[in-house]
Formats: sequence, C-alpha cells, structure tokens
Amino acid sequence: MKVLFTRAFRAIVPSTEIGSASRQKHRERDVWQRRFWERSLCDRDEVNHYLDYIHYNPVKHGLVACPHQWKYSSFWRYVEKGMYAENWGCCGDRQEPKPPDFRNIEHLTGE
Ligand SMILES: [Zn+2]
Repeated sequence: MKVLFTRAFRAIVPSTEIGSASRQKHRERDVWQRRFWERSLCDRDEVNHYLDYIHYNPVKHGLVACPHQWKYSSFWRYVEKGMYAENWGCCGDRQEPKPPDFRNIEHLTGE
C-alpha cells in the first residue's frame, strides 16, 4: 500500500514541494512520517483498540482534556454510529484524565 500510494503521490506532486530541509537531508521526501510502517489488523477487537488509541491520542499529547474536545477527530462519526458513548474517555469533573491502557501497542506506533 505504501509503495503504490507513494508512487501515485510522486506522480502528482513535484519532489521540490515535499518536505522540510531536514526531511530532504534524510531523503524523506514522501508523505510518510519517520518510523511509519503499515500493519494488518487481524480482527475487530484489534481494530477497535487502535481506534481507541487514535481517538485518545490528542489527550495523551496534552492537546485537549477529553477525546470529544478534539475538533479534528473522527470520534463524533463513531459516536453517531453508536460505536462510542459521547463521554468515552472523558475526564468529567476529575482533575486528571484516566487514559485507557495502550502499552500493548505503543511500541508499534512509534511513540
Ligand atoms: Zn470531556
């Protein structure tokens, strides 16, 4: 998937328009982040766990206090589908959010 996407991307976007000087120095002209690699998810539970990780990531990085506050998230689309409660991961009136446990996949996400 990465190879096909990168080839198609390079055909459309000139390499001079891609990336910072640092990325060009390291010959990283593509759209992929360093240490990014694709991974097949085997079942619905694994997909859901990664969705949780993605939706909680803005909280983990201190951008918002709760997943529902991150306006760029797909979180609300999943709420509309009934896959999440509106208050999933919400810190409510607690001072500190209580993050889900992602230790089993964090080494796979480059974080
Ligand atoms: Zn909240």
